[in-house]
Amino acid sequence: MSINRNKLKFNGWGWNGQHYDFGNHKDTFLNYLEQSLDTKIPKTLQLAKAFSEINLPKSRLSKTDLSQLEELLPNDGLTTDDYQRLYHSYGKSLPDILRFRNGDVSNPPDAVLYPRSEEQVQKVLALAAKEKWAVVPFGGGSSVVGGVETIDPDGRPVLTLDTTFMNRMLNLDIESRSATFEAGIYGPDLEKCLEPYGLSLGHYPQSFEFSTLGGWVAARSSGQQSNHYGDITDMLISGNLVSPEGVLSSWNGPYSAGGPDTNHLVAGSEGTLGVITQSTVQVHPIPESHAINVVLFPDFETGTAALRDILGEGLKMSYLRLSDEDETATYLSMGGNHWYQDLGLGALSIVGYGRNRCIMLVGTEGAPKKVEHDIACALKICKKQKGLNLGRSASKNWHRDRFLHPYMRDDLLDYGIATETHETAVSWSKLSTVRQKAKQAVRQTVAEQGNKCIVMSHLSHSYTSGTCIYFIFMYPLNQADPIGQWKPIKQAICESISKVDGAVSHHHGVGLDHKAWLTQEKGVLALDAIRSVKNRLDPAGIMNPGKLLP
Ligand SMILES: Cc1cc2nc3c(=O)[nH]c(=O)nc-3n(C[C@H](O)[C@H](O)[C@H](O)COP(=O)(O)OP(=O)(O)OC[C@H]3O[C@@H](n4cnc5c(N)ncnc54)[C@H](O)[C@@H]3O)c2cc1C
Repeated sequence: MSINRNKLKFNGWGWNGQHYDFGNHKDTFLNYLEQSLDTKIPKTLQLAKAFSEINLPKSRLSKTDLSQLEELLPNDGLTTDDYQRLYHSYGKSLPDILRFRNGDVSNPPDAVLYPRSEEQVQKVLALAAKEKWAVVPFGGGSSVVGGVETIDPDGRPVLTLDTTFMNRMLNLDIESRSATFEAGIYGPDLEKCLEPYGLSLGHYPQSFEFSTLGGWVAARSSGQQSNHYGDITDMLISGNLVSPEGVLSSWNGPYSAGGPDTNHLVAGSEGTLGVITQSTVQVHPIPESHAINVVLFPDFETGTAALRDILGEGLKMSYLRLSDEDETATYLSMGGNHWYQDLGLGALSIVGYGRNRCIMLVGTEGAPKKVEHDIACALKICKKQKGLNLGRSASKNWHRDRFLHPYMRDDLLDYGIATETHETAVSWSKLSTVRQKAKQAVRQTVAEQGNKCIVMSHLSHSYTSGTCIYFIFMYPLNQADPIGQWKPIKQAICESISKVDGAVSHHHGVGLDHKAWLTQEKGVLALDAIRSVKNRLDPAGIMNPGKLLP
């Protein structure tokens, strides 16, 4: 099922009218933010501009252009409707949302295309290459790196190609536990196709409800249970990419020594080589049960040591999510300011779980006996690092609301508070340096702007050799120049991570916002090799121009 774009916020996350539910704790949390950020929450909400208040430039396509496209995309496959053009102008990063909210939309797509088949995609790309129109592939549009922004450095008309009408399961091979889907299928619909067969993909990024299989592959996504099921590239068996020069199909099988794997050319291509039209992925039985315990550690170092030891034991946990001291404190502030909580925390401080305390979610899924066995083993390891098992009840709300948290960013913007995220991957041996440098870079830049900020971090996707560290930071918004305020902060965190050899991104991708740091990670020769591939598949340079490659 494709989601009618009119039902979704163009300038925020998810369904129109849906807000984050703070429960009874809203005032406590806002007080916490006022104190931590040394700011005053404005009395009147700072609301975003409505659709009717935003003027879009007219489409640059002529009647002849449009009728050529219409012929290839009959039955509502083409639109120049203003809401649709507005909706497809940006993705969902903080600067995207800030520009939407201010009505700063100077480059909307000239048309939005909804092809229904691989054949239609082929025809559209052939026409676009002939007419020299840029094409931006768009799945859920949940990119947070500028991946779907409709700009063309060469000033050509830009078409957004929305894949979400291509959303069927094409094949299910139960014996091989693999399934082939069209690329525009959303997360919940993909799971619904597999459910009657007792199967699941197990890829649950936080954007699960509003992101697509093609977008996951194109941006090398990771789900919240990646410790158990792997990242999307581990699940990917094969696929088709339609480029302006033809269809690139990868071999459909478990493993081949037939030279470099072309799946790894397509994964991470971020729409710059062509449109992924279908992918075959590994599926597995729906787990019978799951359990998540909450464990409290005296500090981040003890938590990290336990996490590494659990991985070292070979336990396949689906959740090993360690929040640092700042994230733990913020979560506790969201739980309300009850006297019994104070009493509990006070008592814990006396026995060594003070200001530096860190919470880790330790969970897994599968057959009930195996779940209990693996959790018991993991808790034993935690105990060796002074991890205090707080039981399961505290994890229930987190698990229930895990796809609702993104709504909070929009609500806090109404209160004049910006929330930004950034993530990277590092070797274990560099984790401490990266965490310290990145947090310091954000704090210092925000301080130079005359503000205070909260900088939190957590580990949620880990490997034997290293981990992904995810930063969330909050600061009082400068309403007069929010983008001018955001840019130096983004620059500072990217720079600080790049200097100590952290990855440009672990799972958000490169897009526009990270490409300046890609040469440092990949090297000049490797990027030239990727450019040669692009020149072969897209000689006119129409596919998602300006993205990925510096
Ligand atoms: C609130 C929120 C939470 C998020 N949580 C996570 C998370 O937990 N894990 C994670 O990995 N990411 C997360 N993201 C980032 C984002 O959801 C991922 O990058 C996701 O993979 C994008 O999928 P999409 O379908 O929305 O793709 P889009 O945003 O539409 O596109 C992403 C990129 O891929 C290209 N593209 C899309 N579809 C195709 C296609 N069929 N063929 C070729 N190119 C294509 C686009 O041109 C663009 O460059 C989050 C984002 C938000 C806003």
